[in-house]
Amino acid sequence: MDYTVSLHTHLEGSVRPETFSELMGNDIKADLTVNKNCTSLKEFLDKIACGYPLTQRRQNLKRVAYEIVESASQNNCLYLEVRFGPTLHTSGDMQLEDTVEAVLEGFNEGERNFGVVTRAIISTLRHEDPAVSIRLAKLASKYKDLGVVGFDIAGDEANFKALPHKRSFEIAKEAGLGITAHAGEAGEPGNVKEAILELNASRIGHGIRVIEDKEVVEIAKERGIVFEVCPTSNIHTGAVASIKEHPIKQMVNMGLKVTVNDDDPQTSQITLQGEYEIANDLLDKATTRKNLLINSLEASFVSDTIKKVLLKKIHEM
Ligand SMILES: [Zn+2]
Repeated sequence: MDYTVSLHTHLEGSVRPETFSELMGNDIKADLTVNKNCTSLKEFLDKIACGYPLTQRRQNLKRVAYEIVESASQNNCLYLEVRFGPTLHTSGDMQLEDTVEAVLEGFNEGERNFGVVTRAIISTLRHEDPAVSIRLAKLASKYKDLGVVGFDIAGDEANFKALPHKRSFEIAKEAGLGITAHAGEAGEPGNVKEAILELNASRIGHGIRVIEDKEVVEIAKERGIVFEVCPTSNIHTGAVASIKEHPIKQMVNMGLKVTVNDDDPQTSQITLQGEYEIANDLLDKATTRKNLLINSLEASFVSDTIKKVLLKKIHEM
């Protein structure tokens, strides 16, 4: 079976342009998806932001969440962790709690109908006030046994630091949530080190620039850090010049644990299966899809009971 798993998918980058048109009455596909002029993470994030007017309504947000699970099932996905930034979806009558509940309702309904085990990660953003991050960490903790499994920091890495948000990561960790952080994507390898040592991350979003610093590679290896690699996204954000130059193989050769993920499939107009195929073309034969899936599941933030069941499926494939 050509199973897939994704640990790194953003709800905000998974808004189907057709759903936007249907619910909002205007066609903004060109604004919502990348084109060849997109060369930076900042420009890429601006594309994603075009979908916010849609998701700032509870029913719409639930539908977007539900459709993510549907799309995952079309990619033979066994397990999915979707991250989102609650502050991006609050508006007049939508409070932070409402955004989480709408997303979890969509995931639960999707999981029931499509059989893809789906869990949520709450993301704070680098440009936010650290006090907001603390609120989000507490929010994530509140929903810990209801579908939220992790805490993350995303956003504009080139212009904002993660360290001011350290306290929020401590709160999330104390609550028993998994910790992941975007680092070493648009920023230097030192950000990966900071995410591991200061934020206590066991997984790094992207982290591709880690290869530039041997010390950070060693730290990551020692601690068994898992890298959430998203090949095509790195081209669209300008982090890597071309797919041929993507460092995933180099990361594996350095002894790092990698996984394959789709990041923002609708913004990038890609599929999860497609990303696994790209990774397969880039990697040596010795690294099989099975290896990648095992890496993903072992590093996932789901309960041990479910992890065991899913790993059994992979071992039997
Ligand atoms: Zn991401």
